[in-house]
Amino acid sequence: LSQLFRPLDMLGMVYREIRQGLIDMEAMFRLVDTPAEVKDVPHAPPIAVTGGAVRFEDVRFAYDPERQILKGIDLDVKPGATLAVVGHSGAGKSTLARLLYRFYDVTGGRITIDGQDIAKVSQTSLREAIGIVPQDTVLFNDTIGYNIGYGREGATQDQIEGAARGAAIHDFILSLPQGYATPVGERGLKLSGGEKQRVAIARTLLKDPPVLILDEATSALDSRTEAGIQTTLRGVEAGRTTIVIAHRLSTIVHADEIVVLDAGQVIERGTHAGLLSQNGTYADLWRRQAHERELEEAS
Ligand code: ADP
Ligand code: MG
Repeated sequence: LSQLFRPLDMLGMVYREIRQGLIDMEAMFRLVDTPAEVKDVPHAPPIAVTGGAVRFEDVRFAYDPERQILKGIDLDVKPGATLAVVGHSGAGKSTLARLLYRFYDVTGGRITIDGQDIAKVSQTSLREAIGIVPQDTVLFNDTIGYNIGYGREGATQDQIEGAARGAAIHDFILSLPQGYATPVGERGLKLSGGEKQRVAIARTLLKDPPVLILDEATSALDSRTEAGIQTTLRGVEAGRTTIVIAHRLSTIVHADEIVVLDAGQVIERGTHAGLLSQNGTYADLWRRQAHERELEEAS
């Protein structure tokens, strides 16, 4: 019976979180069929990911025809590179991530991975190639081992523990009353925000995708917990093409390129140092956040 209820639990959680931004799309896609508007073309081949180059070419998108959300976005992320996207709430950052995962189809332009239009390959293969660490991680009412193992079908206990080590949560799990068999979630042990993020990171390590999306993955955490998780994330990013949507700019200083999105358009782009010397919106945001950090540290 509990097998029957699990998906229902899950849907409740997903729908509550859908309003808050990028929900746990990976979790959702395994439970509900993909939205009807996104369909595979007949005989869509699987995507062949070689290096993991991600390109947005003049991408346009609207959730409803009256209101354009993305107004011609060009992005070019080299294999293994890290692109950071920053900008005010509502600028369209999570929409970029949803389009790359093909939650929706673009209404203009195209998105490619290693030269292949993502609208022309099978959705299953596309989603296998992309890992997402969302702001809010959905935990099932099941064991912590199950919650990590969910990252890859048929994962062995050894692989699960390896991923947990990579996410720096293995020792914590061993300290739990029943170790990996400890129930978590709404009806089990409640994990802290940081612990939940580490579960999400472990899931992603297990999945081992060539393309990674971090959507404000640590923005809900206090700055000390965030600093710890950021260190772990740098390891996960290594060797993968990463798109990181960031709230706190201190977490993306290392990015190969930073784009500032405003009302669906890229208004600035460059490296951290380059953007500071441009003395525009990014530099302004940086100074404001640096000031907030000082206040936080002083208190
Ligand atoms: P960000 O992540 O930068 O805060 P989003 O990409 O989530 O912004 O949203 C961009 C805009 O699209 C916002 O104005 C938001 O209200 C709108 N939006 C987001 N999701 C939907 C949706 N499912 N239906 C209609 N509008 C949406
Ligand atoms: Mg968002």
